[in-house]
Amino acid sequence: SATPATLSAISRGARDGILVKGGKAMESLTSMNVLFSDKTGTLTYGQFDVVDYQIDDSILAEVIYMEQQSTHPIAKALVRHFGTEDLSSVDQTEDIEEIVGSGVRKGHITVAKPSFFEGFNDPNGYLNESTKEYTTIIVGAHQEVVGYFNLADTVRKEAKEAVALFQSEGVDVRLLTGDHEVVAKAVASTVNIDRYVASCLPEDKIKYVNDSIQQGDIVGMIGDGINDAPALANANIGIAMGEGSTVAMESSDVVIVKNDLLKLFNSFILSRKLNRTIK
Ligand code: ADP
Ligand code: MG
Repeated sequence: SATPATLSAISRGARDGILVKGGKAMESLTSMNVLFSDKTGTLTYGQFDVVDYQIDDSILAEVIYMEQQSTHPIAKALVRHFGTEDLSSVDQTEDIEEIVGSGVRKGHITVAKPSFFEGFNDPNGYLNESTKEYTTIIVGAHQEVVGYFNLADTVRKEAKEAVALFQSEGVDVRLLTGDHEVVAKAVASTVNIDRYVASCLPEDKIKYVNDSIQQGDIVGMIGDGINDAPALANANIGIAMGEGSTVAMESSDVVIVKNDLLKLFNSFILSRKLNRTIK
């Protein structure tokens, strides 16, 4: 059963908006030495602005209709930006499929990250748009690239400080993201993370977590998305953003109620101190 130090850390955490599901979870958090972090919605706010785009109006309506069914931060941004679009031309009987960690599909139309469209015809060179420091979303119809959106996200104001604090306690913080190399690198450098992996699929995130556990690390994983859920469940200590997806929270041991990364650090450091003094 949990020690008095652990119970005390749990109850103080709860008051501060850090929900820890039990003594074992609290003890793992205390001894964590590696912390993998997702990017979108975790180190960043996940509130994207549409910076520029090219697409036919008829297909735009389809895209907006499709994204209305998705909870991904990119989907929400597109729906917000094009909220007044007329959707009456859309065939609403066709099924929409979420391609976890990549995008959404409806019939012959796919809205997803650029790497999904290898082998597609790209008459307008839209795939090259993803070399910029934006998150680029591509629209494909049949085997052809027919549109793109460039979206910009913002790094959370406390992210850099939170990363530095964990590092100062000897925690190796690493970034795992489904986004492409240029954005991954830019965010990693903004928050001073030297090890990052771009273009991760959900199964890649699991692999990095498991490999690290196998090497004897006590591994934390922090994320917000459906795509993070398997890795969160595999980590010694899964940490979910409270304003993220429900699946992420259900797969985790810790929930940061108001998404504040500094509060996670406070809870971590408090439990370390209590364990040193009370044990
Ligand atoms: P991250 O690891 O940065 O949180 P995700 O794994 O959630 O990113 O998604 C990876 C990428 O897949 C996103 O950067 C985006 O390009 C694309 N993607 C995922 N879901 C959608 C969607 N509903 N619409 C468009 N693109 C999506
Ligand atoms: Mg995310």
